[in-house]
Amino acid sequence: MSSSSSAYEKRSWFMRWLSKFFKGGSSNRGQAGGTHHRPPQFIGDENMVLRAPVRSLDNRSRTDKEKEELDQAISISLAEGLKKPIGFGWRPNNEDDHSKAVQDDPHSSYPPYIPREYQPTGYRVCGGCNRDIGYGNYLGCMGAFFHPECFRCRGCRYPITEHEFSLSGKDAYHKTCFKDLTHPKCEVCLQFIPTNGAGLIEYRCHPFWSQKYCPVHEHDNTARCCSCERLESVNTRYVSLGDGRSLCLDCMESAIMDTGDCQPLYHTIRDYYEGMNMKLDQQIPMLLVEKQALNEAIVGEKQGFHHMPETRGLCLSEEQTVASIQKKPKMGGHGLIGMRTQPQKLTRRCEVTAILVLYGLPRLLTGAVLAHELMHSWLRLKGYRNLNPEVEEGICQVLSHMWLESEITPCLGSSSTSAAPSSSSSASKKGGKSRVENKLGEFFMHQIANDTSAAYGGGFRAANAAVNMYGLRRTLDHIRLTGSFPM
Ligand SMILES: [Zn+2]
Ligand SMILES: [Zn+2]
Ligand SMILES: [Zn+2]
Ligand SMILES: [Zn+2]
Ligand SMILES: [Zn+2]
Repeated sequence: MSSSSSAYEKRSWFMRWLSKFFKGGSSNRGQAGGTHHRPPQFIGDENMVLRAPVRSLDNRSRTDKEKEELDQAISISLAEGLKKPIGFGWRPNNEDDHSKAVQDDPHSSYPPYIPREYQPTGYRVCGGCNRDIGYGNYLGCMGAFFHPECFRCRGCRYPITEHEFSLSGKDAYHKTCFKDLTHPKCEVCLQFIPTNGAGLIEYRCHPFWSQKYCPVHEHDNTARCCSCERLESVNTRYVSLGDGRSLCLDCMESAIMDTGDCQPLYHTIRDYYEGMNMKLDQQIPMLLVEKQALNEAIVGEKQGFHHMPETRGLCLSEEQTVASIQKKPKMGGHGLIGMRTQPQKLTRRCEVTAILVLYGLPRLLTGAVLAHELMHSWLRLKGYRNLNPEVEEGICQVLSHMWLESEITPCLGSSSTSAAPSSSSSASKKGGKSRVENKLGEFFMHQIANDTSAAYGGGFRAANAAVNMYGLRRTLDHIRLTGSFPM
């Protein structure tokens, strides 16, 4: 009989639909190829793995309590549905009613549960609008009833008309809305972060900026800002500095591009030292250089300990010829053009020949490097000798950190946790700092405090603890006498 076979088809379709609708948890176990669920896992700060949305109705595990609630919802709905053919389920725009198909089938094994009264028939309160549902269409879900138009997505607030949706606690979501809310998106390629071979969503997350991205971008030549470490995304444009480094537009905004540009900042930091009663008596030349020139100068130095691989400054003690940047480059295409460098013979008049700093870094980072290198200069000029790297780099980082702290405005940047480098803002190089620049300053301080190297990170933490306990002056006196930090 064709009509009965069609009724059967409808029923089986309905059964499948129903089981997805209400029984996702139990059906999941028998599902071939269903992924095994695990709670979110976090592996370290920067390598995160987490399980894809665990509450998606068609594919997730449930607690027993929730299963109970679901079973109850099913039994109520079925009971109601049997009494009133059109009472149960969705009929958004289709006269071909699915619940009727259940009724028409004489072999139906419904109901699998004993029907029971939940509320007096005909009086149901909508869980959405709290009004009487009466005898109209309604939906039963998780022990509550809804007008079809009142069963809404918690995410977008539009009604849910799909047969499959996602539940989180008592909240229902469109599947796509739930995925948007819970499945992390890569901030580099802007796609959902894919699951790895083990079915886990694995991603990297920058510990300061919280920039989340697919692990693959660490090796696919995605540009990383040499100053703030954020990766270039498909909707941002970084500037190539020409020596292998890239700069994001946030960092570009306050970047210091030539030796002349840097002089006011250099004076500011010398004044900062003078203000702490640590005046540098010698006029030490300061030059901005490209990465290559800095590396050559490092090779030419006999002494010194350097922060590899990212050395950004150098306190020179030998006589060298260094190519300094005399004329700042201009923006051209995707990079910078028209830079002029000039070889400069540096002669030694005191313990310190010159201070070299990488060009193209934002003002606060350039200043942090200058403050660090000026501390090396101060130590050499004041006759501190043979300090071990942890002590010398540690105390230099403390001065760098202190200067940054004096420059940034607390609270200004902390409210903004935006990970994406913004392309527009109104920073001024003098006076009031923009929120973007302030946030960068907080990042540079974070870098110093969380550096993992023994000399720079360990040194900073030991030096900073000593300075907090005894003050800078007493700490320096102790270093001069003993070569170590006061305990
Ligand atoms: Zn309602
Ligand atoms: Zn939605
Ligand atoms: Zn990606
Ligand atoms: Zn940057
Ligand atoms: Zn150093």
